[in-house]
Amino acid sequence: MNIILLGAPGAGKGTLASKIVDEYKLPHISTGDIFRENIKNQTPIGVVAKSYIDKGQLVPDEVTCQIVEERLTREDCKNGYMLDGFPRTNAQAEALDKITNVELVINIDVDFSLLMGRLCGRRVCKDCGESYHITRLNGATTCSRCGGELYQRKDDNPETVQSRLDVYNAQTAPLIEYYTKQGKIFNVNGSTTPEDVFEKVAEKLNALRK
Ligand code: AMP
Repeated sequence: MNIILLGAPGAGKGTLASKIVDEYKLPHISTGDIFRENIKNQTPIGVVAKSYIDKGQLVPDEVTCQIVEERLTREDCKNGYMLDGFPRTNAQAEALDKITNVELVINIDVDFSLLMGRLCGRRVCKDCGESYHITRLNGATTCSRCGGELYQRKDDNPETVQSRLDVYNAQTAPLIEYYTKQGKIFNVNGSTTPEDVFEKVAEKLNALRK
């Protein structure tokens, strides 16, 4: 299965991704995670990416497409993959269409008024990447999945979040139409619970797998 997760920042792509990975054993390719790893290791890509990510802007298509193209050639993608946070522009979607056959685009649709609160209250596990919200943590500072330390992403502050949401509206939302025209969009309501979202998506994926 070749799958894309589409949705605004805070829509729940990462949370859904971790459930899909557990159930369907697909490699999880998150361009945001790849950039954060590069920033941590202070690689040349990391240095470039940081200057954009800190401002809530998109890393240039050239850099991003190259990373994904390389990643998709690896052995573990032979039987499918799940892209999370890529593509985010028309140019990225067109580049992807040239190298692979996307089967399904899961679009997580969320009421925009929820996103600022979700992102600014988000805490992420340093080790496994699991996301939490402070309102559900009851003061816990470690991950209930793996015990890793929780942290707040530097770009999860009100100013940068606003910029990320504006960028989503201008550059990424048009991809819904792009993939609708290709007949590949599956819309799911992301304003409900993570369990509910996964249940709806699993029905679709099980049908696709048959
Ligand atoms: P995410 O973890 O998906 O929220 O991504 C964090 C940040 O990484 C984004 O705000 C962008 O600055 C950058 N980024 C991630 N994926 C892409 C992409 N496909 N194209 C350009 N920039 C990206």
